[in-house]
Amino acid sequence: MYLKSLELSGFKSFAKKSSLEFNASISSIVGPNGSGKSNIAEAFRFVLGEQSFKSMRGKKGEDLIFNGGKDSQRANRANVKVLFDNSDHTLNVDFDEVSIERVVHRDGINQYLINGSEVRLRDIIELLAGAHIGASGHHIISQGEADKILNANLRERRTMVEDALGLKIYQYKKEESERKLEKTEENIKSVESLRREIAPHLKFLKKQVEKVEKAREMKEELKDLYREYFKREDIYLKLQKEDLAARKKGPQAELVALENELEKAKKILAATKEKDSRGEAIIDVESKLKIVRSEKEVLTREVGRIEGEIAYLEKNIKKQKESTSQIEQKTVYLHELEALRKTIDQHASEAEGKTDVAAIKSLIYKIRDLFRNFIESNRTKKDQAAIGDLENELANLNEERKQLDQKLQKQATEETGLNNEYLRLKNEVEKGKDTSLEAERKMLQVMARQNDIRATLNSLQVTEERFVLEETDFKRELGEAGVLLGREATEYESFKIGGEASARSEQLERRRYIEKIKIRLEEAGTGAGEDILKEYTEAEERDIFLGRELEDLDKSAVSLKELITDLENRLDVEFKEGVRKINEEFGKFFALMFGGGKASLEVIREKVRRRRSDEDLDLLEAEGYSRAESEADSALGDEGIDINVSLPHKKIKGLVMLSGGERALTSIALLFAISQVNPPPFIILDETDAALDEANSRKYGDMIENLSKFSQLILITHNRETMSRAGVIYGVTMGGDGLSKLLSIQFEEAVVVAK
Ligand code: ATP
Repeated sequence: MYLKSLELSGFKSFAKKSSLEFNASISSIVGPNGSGKSNIAEAFRFVLGEQSFKSMRGKKGEDLIFNGGKDSQRANRANVKVLFDNSDHTLNVDFDEVSIERVVHRDGINQYLINGSEVRLRDIIELLAGAHIGASGHHIISQGEADKILNANLRERRTMVEDALGLKIYQYKKEESERKLEKTEENIKSVESLRREIAPHLKFLKKQVEKVEKAREMKEELKDLYREYFKREDIYLKLQKEDLAARKKGPQAELVALENELEKAKKILAATKEKDSRGEAIIDVESKLKIVRSEKEVLTREVGRIEGEIAYLEKNIKKQKESTSQIEQKTVYLHELEALRKTIDQHASEAEGKTDVAAIKSLIYKIRDLFRNFIESNRTKKDQAAIGDLENELANLNEERKQLDQKLQKQATEETGLNNEYLRLKNEVEKGKDTSLEAERKMLQVMARQNDIRATLNSLQVTEERFVLEETDFKRELGEAGVLLGREATEYESFKIGGEASARSEQLERRRYIEKIKIRLEEAGTGAGEDILKEYTEAEERDIFLGRELEDLDKSAVSLKELITDLENRLDVEFKEGVRKINEEFGKFFALMFGGGKASLEVIREKVRRRRSDEDLDLLEAEGYSRAESEADSALGDEGIDINVSLPHKKIKGLVMLSGGERALTSIALLFAISQVNPPPFIILDETDAALDEANSRKYGDMIENLSKFSQLILITHNRETMSRAGVIYGVTMGGDGLSKLLSIQFEEAVVVAK
């Protein structure tokens, strides 16, 4: 790593943009008092993240901004940029060149940039710590600060040495880990209190869930119990049904047969009863026969008469037909003649009243036509009518005779029937006297048997009614089980049972047991089962989650503690090792400066003014530290660094007794020793050589050349000897305008400029 350049603008007296290139291992900055040289050293502090304005001779950010000169206005911001060659990647970023820039505005706002990108102050500090450059600036020794390390107290000195040894990075890490540990412990506490808070609720829920689970088990058990019960009940009922049907079948069939027999016997008996009235029937038939026979006689007589009439008429008709053929035999009806005369009389009296011959004549013609017509119509028509009448009469008689014949026929059939009946009745009366007795006996027997069978069927009916009740119960129980436990409980068909048939008493026992479990289930009260289960699962998950989180936190607390211990150990080991190495160099440099003598650093414990309070001791004890140890420990303070010196040929020991020059030499020796052990990339020394005489200045110069092999050096000086060792010299001047100006100059000029 290599410091390439520094660029200032608006920073203190450097109003205009000014830059310094450091392309030599030793660069010197020279110039008269008050020209602005120290402002350059401060610009380095500033850009590297210094937060103490005091160490930059200011009170606030604004003090660092160019405040205006005679002819120039004040600046709004101060800007410093430092550029490093990072091709060896000492700075832990992926760039070969790294620029760090800081800007402060009048309102006090600071901006930090790495390679032009704005970053946090912390990023800059961390980046630089990796290269042993810290803002605390052990490698930047300001004017008058040469013996700062000698003036510092034990602890400050330790910090400075740690910083110089590059142990700051461990310190940062340790502090960061401690912060993390603190945060982790806070988290642990809050998680623990959260867990404590939910614990009672979780416990309550767990109990509830146990109840719910118990109930669930009971339900499962109940389901199986039900299924077995139903299966067996089903088998039982089916068997019962078959049995009933079988037992009813015989008696029912017999009852039908008996009914038939009874019917037959009844008929026989009824027949016997008929026989008793047979006498009457015979008489009845006999009287009917008489009537029929007498009616027959009347009819026969009537037929004879009608036949006589028919014969007469037929003879008459024949005679009529023969006479009609002779005209003179024609007959004229009187009423027709009278009607004719009436009409003629009318015409004749009309003619008597007329005088007109023609009219009279016409009436005479009318009368003559009337006569003619009368005669003519009688000639053809009159006899035909007489024959028609006779023929009608004959037809009527024939019809009458036909009807009589039919009546006679019927009468004959009736007679035959009555006669047969009579014979049969008579015959039956003779037989059938024993069949009646037999039938009566049979009927009594059948009726007795019927009563027996009905009794049997009645008792079967009672059984059947009981069976129906059982069947209804079965259905009801199925329904109940379904409602209580879901369909599963009713799916008994597939349920496997050992031994199909079992005693009814066992089945009733099963039912009682089911009822018992049901009551227990009801007592368990499983209403909100699902909700409880869900709530418990959630609460438990949360608790498990918190538990895991606690575990993780504990783990990370443990590893943080380990890390801290580890860092402390490394810090301790490296610190002591560093001090040992520094001591080696310190002794050498010291002897070189003073031409002998001894100097060394000593790690000691600070004396503690305050004993640990009882309260603190209690706390420590609670954390596992033994009380005695803590008390003993409290007597010891933190470790610090003391400096022991003994000058050659002098009896002086201890820093306080050294002269100003001796103090300067001692601190330079220590500074160089430290820088030698852990060389920073660059060192800025602001008039560290001010107090040296010529001889010591040479020694100083030698040491500087030696040191420049390890670190780049920027020396602000008035010292000619020092200037002579520089590869690059910058002159700083300030004119009447109050603005610092930079110029690159040669050694000879430098000697002039420095004055
Ligand atoms: P010496 O050799 O005496 O140590 P030097 O060269 O180190 O002097 P500095 O102390 O760096 O000089 O410069 C101080 C000068 O810078 C003073 O003149 C002071 O007025 C000027 N200065 C300081 N702060 C500002 C500022 N904010 N604006 C303008 N000028 C400033």
